[in-house]
Amino acid sequence: MTNLYSKIKKLDVSMWYIVILCLGGFLTFQNINGWAFFHYSSEQWVQLYVMVGATLILNSLMFRLPPEGNLMSFDSSIYLACVFIYGSQFTLSVLLICSLLYAIYKRGIPWWKQCTNFALYSIMISLCYKVFLLLGGSLGTVDSLNLTSYIVSLAVYFIVNTLGLFLYYYLLYRKDLINTLKGFVKDTVLVYLCMLILSLVLCVLIVNNGTLGLILFLSLGIMLSHAFRLLFSMYHQILNRSNIDQRTALYNHSFFESSLDYHIIEAKVNDRPLSLAMIDIDDFKKYNDSFGHLKGDLLISFLGSMLKEETKDTSIVASRYGGEEFTLLMPGYDYEKARHFVDKMRKKLNDTPFDGVEVFPHKCLSFSAGIAQYSIDLYDKSQLVDHADKALYYAKKQGKNTVHTYGCDLIMEDELDLSHEVNYIEQQLNLFMYKDIDTFKHSKRVYKYALDMSNILSLDKEEKREFVLGALIHDIGKLEIPWGVLNKEGKLTPEEWETIKQHVTWGKKIALTDPRFRDLIPYIELHHERFDGKGYPHGLKGKEIPKLCRMLTVLDSFDAMTTERPYQKTKTLQEGIIELRACAGTQFDPELVEIFIAYILGQSPKNDLTLQEETAPYMV
Ligand code: GH3
Ligand code: MG
Ligand code: MG
Repeated sequence: MTNLYSKIKKLDVSMWYIVILCLGGFLTFQNINGWAFFHYSSEQWVQLYVMVGATLILNSLMFRLPPEGNLMSFDSSIYLACVFIYGSQFTLSVLLICSLLYAIYKRGIPWWKQCTNFALYSIMISLCYKVFLLLGGSLGTVDSLNLTSYIVSLAVYFIVNTLGLFLYYYLLYRKDLINTLKGFVKDTVLVYLCMLILSLVLCVLIVNNGTLGLILFLSLGIMLSHAFRLLFSMYHQILNRSNIDQRTALYNHSFFESSLDYHIIEAKVNDRPLSLAMIDIDDFKKYNDSFGHLKGDLLISFLGSMLKEETKDTSIVASRYGGEEFTLLMPGYDYEKARHFVDKMRKKLNDTPFDGVEVFPHKCLSFSAGIAQYSIDLYDKSQLVDHADKALYYAKKQGKNTVHTYGCDLIMEDELDLSHEVNYIEQQLNLFMYKDIDTFKHSKRVYKYALDMSNILSLDKEEKREFVLGALIHDIGKLEIPWGVLNKEGKLTPEEWETIKQHVTWGKKIALTDPRFRDLIPYIELHHERFDGKGYPHGLKGKEIPKLCRMLTVLDSFDAMTTERPYQKTKTLQEGIIELRACAGTQFDPELVEIFIAYILGQSPKNDLTLQEETAPYMV
């Protein structure tokens, strides 16, 4: 019992949807069909066999629809014709027998998918028949005066089918609602139109010509299925050509970008590791300069074919990123496994003879590679590429012909002088001196907290750099808030709050204009997200918010609480700590709150002091 209960608890919303759909479908079947075929006459059984046979033939001729490759077949036209000629009870009998046969010969498809299919079709058939009768449709004849009943009942069949499948995929992947639905409808509407016409043709043929009509219809269905198959294979060939880099036969940059999107969602949904390797040929310019670009091209093609060969039996997506740079997108690989794989390939390349390798410093072909692993707190896909790129840059600096993993084993060196960058950001913040001095001071205090916390959290140099600079710049978007709102004494109106909340988005826009601020964007944009998902601008929850952004929220809020504000009493350190604990788990990450509190207590044993005497702005 507890086992069952714990299993039920683990079901996510998409699975609950499947359970409810199946229950609805089975009840509909029971209600309308009620196992009526047990009482069929031998003539009805023959009809049933014939329809089942025709359905199976069309089902075996499945075809795919561009662009997503959704599987379709014309068997629905048989169900629809059965609805129009014999009614829903008989059609459900055909459906049941076909579904039982699929369960036997399509054993590879999981049982719950087969049940869902059966349930969804039961609902589609029943509703379609109800609407057909409601609009005055009459069984067994094709009445040209009553075309609306055919069209509307088919529309119902189509809508229930599309919504049923769409809702499942939407709940599973949570993609953009409207666009996903549009995509679904766009892909399938042509086939459903064919199906309406085919089902009516089948009705006419069966009503007037019996078995001969059915045979004629099947021939038509088979040819149409074949035509759709050809269409898809042509589409696939063209698509492949537009995704493939001609020189190396690897995938090209745009395919890499779209598969990165796809694999990041996959890694998130299935909690599977995903690594990205960036590979750059060492000293390629020297080779080009010595032997010319044509020979250089041959070297690029050679490495391309080697990457293709090495990855052919794996899940790895190998692409030419541009010039003499390549990427390996490695689903299922954590960074260690990825590093092992890439390093093995590097050694193999070193040992491969190639014309003209004497111009290279290592006297052999070589590349450098940087590897980064996806984690849920990555801000977006460009950050994964950025990490791999940084690791590659580091590998080059180690003397090339090496593989480096982002954030692992060796501490990344801080290329840029931090104080130089701090000065640069402070110059931007100087505008606050005139517009809102309190935000200027607040930013500096949060920056100091961040410096201390980066030591406590043992951040590596790169993380530390991003965290402290992110803390310094996090409120830059407030520059855009009108002076009157920013400095208003007393309560803000709801509209004014909305304006203030915009500062995270404005800040991001400001940061986008300067490449130096690019990797600080998560701190600017996400420091008002809440641990319980009720923050803004995205409503990210728990670990969806990068860890250091969660930390920044704690520092930012603590400073805001413990500094005087125009309309709110300043909290003492002690009160600030109590408030942090009260909001741990809702507004703040509870673990990080405790780390920060331990630091504050260690800083000032007299915790009944207020931290700042200066005035600071309200914090949103
Ligand atoms: P490093 O080891 O630092 O990577 O040095 P590198 O010489 O390889 O320098 P870098 O990666 O910056 O330069 C790559 C050069 O590759 C620049 C460009 O002339 C050349 N290149 C880019 N695409 C092609 C191409 O399709 N064919 C040829 N022949 N050369 C290319
Ligand atoms: Mg390069
Ligand atoms: Mg290079």
